[in-house]
Formats: sequence, C-alpha cells, structure tokens
Amino acid sequence: MKQLVLASNNPGKVREIRALLAPLAIEVVPQAERGIAEAEEPHATFLENALAKARHASRAAGLPALADDSGLCVDALAGEPGVHSAYFAATHGSREERDARNNAKLLSVLKGCAQRGAHYVCVMVMLRSADDPEPIVTQGRWPGSIALAPRGAGGFGYDPLFLLPGRGLTAAELAAEEKNRISHRGQALARLLVQLRERAA
Ligand code: IMP
Repeated sequence: MKQLVLASNNPGKVREIRALLAPLAIEVVPQAERGIAEAEEPHATFLENALAKARHASRAAGLPALADDSGLCVDALAGEPGVHSAYFAATHGSREERDARNNAKLLSVLKGCAQRGAHYVCVMVMLRSADDPEPIVTQGRWPGSIALAPRGAGGFGYDPLFLLPGRGLTAAELAAEEKNRISHRGQALARLLVQLRERAA
C-alpha cells in the first residue's frame, strides 16, 4: 500500500494520524486534498460512522482508506455527547467556533455536578477498497474527567477540559508526542498497525 486516503477534514485529527503513521512508507492523503467532502455520520455508533466514512473516502478516491470516528463520553450525561461530540452545541460556525461553544456548553451542563468522569473513544477502520469484506477495525478508550475550567493550548476539541487521572494536566497541556502515545487515537492506531503487520506477514 503506497497511498492511503484519510477520511477526515479535521486538522487536529489529520495532524495526529499523520504523526502516528509517519514511520510507515505510506503517503497519507487527507480527503480534502482530493476534493472529497465529509461523509454523512447518521449512525448511533462510532463503528458504523467510521465504516461509512472509510467507504465514502475509498470509493471517491479509488484508494485504500483510513477513517476515525471519535468522541467524548461523559458519565453524568449517560455517555453524551458521544457520537454527537463534534456538533454538541451547534452545527454552524467554523471548527474553532464550534469547539469553543462545545466546551462552554459542556461546562455549563456540568455546573455544580460532582460526577465528572468521562472518556474519549476512537474507532479506526481501514479498508483496502470501498467493498473490502475484511475491514481492519480497532478501538481506543482514554479515561479521564472534566475540569472545572479550560487549560492548555495543545490538541483540539475538548482537550482543554479533559483532565488526565493523577496528572493534574489536561490533554491540551500534553506535548503532542505524549498525547499521541496514550490517547484513544494513539491506542486505536497502534492496534491497527499490529493487525496490518500480521496481515502482511
Ligand atoms: P467526528 O469523529 O468527526 O464525528 O468528531 C469527533 C469529535 O469528537 C471532534 O470534533 C471533537 O469534538 C471530539 N474529539 C475526538 N477526539 C478528540 C480529541 O483527541 N481531543 C478533543 N476532542 C476530540
């Protein structure tokens, strides 16, 4: 596999996935570079959305595809925003505006709430073609809690509010390499690379 289309237009995800795949001799082509629009994500599970995104990108680009569907699941909100994380507060505005509104809404709905446990989930799907009957599917889960106020300038999305257990740091205060090593996305991609190597063996 020489080229792989990445089924995401989220610059934060593209940056992290490119860094994690850097050791492989694969050219990672973000779908936007091929003029491919984001797929619909109508499903109730990360798995179904990731599969839909990977199929859409693979079909449009005529290349193998990698998709990530991810989100933040908050205990006190029965797992929400979950698959709705990107558009928790609103669908309009730039990505930065949506992220800022999502974080403000999360703080507001948890105001006065002592139960602040949460975890990130990432499901990765890799397809050799849009009709690949054997997709590689992996998952990562990163437990933490929701801070009382945002901190840090790294990462993206909910990272300024995502507190790591026992560290007193938010995900936005981690160096990019450390986040990639331990995050839900890093875990899912590490597992995917193991399966890719097994398949090539
Ligand atoms: P989707 O997978 O494109 O539906 O969107 C995932 C959404 O979940 C992002 O837009 C963020 O709001 C959130 N999210 C997923 N992974 C992360 C992360 O590593 N840091 C912060 N927010 C994330």
